[in-house]
Amino acid sequence: MRWDEKAACKSADTEIFFGKWFEAEAKSICAECPVKTLCLQAALDMEGGEPRNLRYGVRGGKTPTERWRISKGHQVPPGIRGTTSRRCVKCGTLMESVGNSRQYCDDCQAERGRERDREYRARKKAAA
Ligand code: SF4
Ligand SMILES: [Zn+2]
Repeated sequence: MRWDEKAACKSADTEIFFGKWFEAEAKSICAECPVKTLCLQAALDMEGGEPRNLRYGVRGGKTPTERWRISKGHQVPPGIRGTTSRRCVKCGTLMESVGNSRQYCDDCQAERGRERDREYRARKKAAA
């Protein structure tokens, strides 16, 4: 069974989820929803690194602004994994990292560390 078949909003008026006036009402439906975390993760995955104004509706109990903040690594709810889709500046690998500050993927980051290590040792050797 797909997770969205268990959605509490399945029979609800979609207007509630997309109209700003009904935000509280939408959130109260989400609060009781058994697939809230999956729904929020799906929304974050789909939206990737989108700016705030390109996110729509309440999903997984969160407003567009709240999801945008989560995508930046702020107040990430339990059970939610990395949300910001960024590419490593060196190799171009897509990274699913919470927060927006990572420039390198794990491999490239490790390689950079080793490089710096080698440079450091070479300098030390030259100075000795
Ligand atoms: S969390 Fe909210 S938007 Fe998501 S499936 Fe449940 S009720 Fe619908
Ligand atoms: Zn990389």
